Amino acid sequence: MTIKIMIAAIPKLAELREVVLAHSEKRKPKWGFRIAVDIVMELQAQPCLLLSERLKAGGGKQAVLSFEGYAVMTPGAASAVDLKKRPPGSRSRKFSLLQFDGEPNWQLALGQRSWPYGSDVDSVAPLDDAILAALQVDGIFTQLTPERMLKPACMICGKALTDPASMSRWIGPECAATTSIRIFREKTDRRPISAYSIEEANA
Ligand SMILES: [Zn+2]
Repeated sequence: MTIKIMIAAIPKLAELREVVLAHSEKRKPKWGFRIAVDIVMELQAQPCLLLSERLKAGGGKQAVLSFEGYAVMTPGAASAVDLKKRPPGSRSRKFSLLQFDGEPNWQLALGQRSWPYGSDVDSVAPLDDAILAALQVDGIFTQLTPERMLKPACMICGKALTDPASMSRWIGPECAATTSIRIFREKTDRRPISAYSIEEANA
């Protein structure tokens, strides 16, 4: 069952999505963030498919903004979590962010979730709370601007970057020795969000 929650629009995130998709719809970066000591969250901009007339006639709503997200809560996680290999004992939740044509608010849709064998499904609730908190007005996802997230040139060699995944990494594929679309940013408590240190997640 999908839980749908209306949230206030996040204009900066919408702007960031536009910039990424304008550069490439194939190389959409997956931004990973640690949003709590034990929680890592990933977000990826998505293009919107045009709704067919038949679906519209059936009451379908045209999406004008779309993100796919994934969050994992791992007890005692101290290092970067590889989201592709869910650590044992972890809880996870897939989610999407959508805006429909003519609607000011966005919709957070909480989708598939997982929890360890033997524990209660309610143990996923703190993870859902953290996802929602990150998307609130003072949450970290309201602070992601194209200026902060995307750099036009490689920080190591200065070569111009056009691939949105490389622009998100701030480092070109040669210097980074990777073409991964996964970009992990570690948020520390001592520094403001604009001074994230960058840590390459295991691609
Ligand atoms: Zn370079």
